[in-house]
Amino acid sequence: MALPKILVLGAGYGGLMTTVGLQKELNQQEAEVTLVNLNSYHHVTTKLHEPAAGTLPSEYAKVDIDSVLDRNKVRFIQDKVTQVDPDKKEVQLDGGETLSYDYLVFGLGSAPETFGIKGLLDHAYFIRNLNGARLIREHMEKAFAEYNTLEEKRDDLLTIVIGGAGFTGIEYVGELVDRLPELCREFDIPREKVRLVNVEAAPTVLPGFDKELVDYAVKYLEERGVEFRISTPIEECTPEGVILKGGEKIDAATVVWTGGVRGNPLLEEAGIETARGRVKVDEYLRAPGYEDFFVVGDSSLIFNEEERPYPPTAQMATQQGQYLSKNLVAKLRGGSMQPFSFDLKGTLASLGRGSAIGIAFGKKFFGGKASFLKRVNDWRWFYLIGGLSLMFKKAKF
Ligand code: FAD
Ligand code: NAD
Repeated sequence: MALPKILVLGAGYGGLMTTVGLQKELNQQEAEVTLVNLNSYHHVTTKLHEPAAGTLPSEYAKVDIDSVLDRNKVRFIQDKVTQVDPDKKEVQLDGGETLSYDYLVFGLGSAPETFGIKGLLDHAYFIRNLNGARLIREHMEKAFAEYNTLEEKRDDLLTIVIGGAGFTGIEYVGELVDRLPELCREFDIPREKVRLVNVEAAPTVLPGFDKELVDYAVKYLEERGVEFRISTPIEECTPEGVILKGGEKIDAATVVWTGGVRGNPLLEEAGIETARGRVKVDEYLRAPGYEDFFVVGDSSLIFNEEERPYPPTAQMATQQGQYLSKNLVAKLRGGSMQPFSFDLKGTLASLGRGSAIGIAFGKKFFGGKASFLKRVNDWRWFYLIGGLSLMFKKAKF
């Protein structure tokens, strides 16, 4: 008899956690598990702001999939998913292969939310993957190198605009603050010539987060030269920089957009109902109307008790992956599935290497202690997917 086929799309927090869980629990005679991912490695999305600023080697944010998968239990395909068809139960890959499944786990992450802002897709950079992170760092370094080689002194070469002061924007700004002194020394540029401008549409940085922690972050970053422009939406991005609401222009050679995310477009293209590209999943993480189509991570949408959507986070994706692997195993063994419930452990945001803010164990943390907790949290992820050996390998960075 043919084995049930479980197809996992995406080796991110949600997909990889599901796959590692299935690999641990199932034996080869119970199911055929296949994982598809764009690259041969898992990129640690929560660390991408660091290679994007140049404060950490990109190797840290990279885990070879082969190093965490047991190829006797899981088939791995490196390819791009181009289409999913939930009715035919098929997935198309860029390389031409068509995969069929009995159970699909959709974990292809998010896409940038640009709100249709003119010029963003053409002129801004996005912190999305390792090559994108490298591109940002290299572009910034090139602009700094050009500054002293051109006859005319172009201040825009030393201006970096970060669009959006949510968690990604703030964490990236924190890394840039750490990187700038070295960058200025390397390219013979006085630090005061460099402008780091974080533009936020909402009336506060980190909207919705604890005010005391936000104030700490703003003070910490302002003291290190960051200019915040709050209540100021970016309305256009041009080759010269950005145009703000009201018409003010900021000339900047480097514009990095961190204005939010939406679900992966393949879901909408498959005819599945979404809100900002995310699928409101049922209590078993299934897309509405499908018994066998599960969505984990940034493309899933779950509401809390106050009917507000949980933000898409690695914490959520990890818990979903852990839960789903157990549930799928129970289902394959003829048991019943349990409903998913999210357990928010806290939120920590780094402000560069030595400082952070956050809430954990119901308490607020600032500075070095918060930064240490954040690091422990990173190590935990490596432990979950690759055990102690991967954790110790990564902890040396
Ligand atoms: P991802 O982890 O993004 O993985 C998606 C995977 O799918 C990738 O491997 C990708 O290559 C692959 N893929 C995409 N499209 C295709 C395709 N068509 N074909 C094949 N493969 C494809 N959250 C936290 O909880 N804590 C944090 O500290 C935190 N820090 C963050 C810092 C930054 C800079 C950013 C950008 C995000 C941060 N987040 C954090 C959010 C968190 O990273 C995401 O919520 C999480 O990565 C979502 O997991 P996922 O599995 O949905 O997708
Ligand atoms: P976000 O949606 O959390 O923040 C985007 C910010 O951009 C918002 O503050 C928004 O007001 C602002 N914005 C939108 N349009 C704008 C405009 N036109 N001009 C200026 N500002 C504009 O998105 P994010 O920061 O990319 O985070 C994505 C997800 O990842 C979130 O769920 C977040 O919680 C999670 N994340 C978590 C962490 C962490 O826990 N440390 C770190 C990074 C990201």
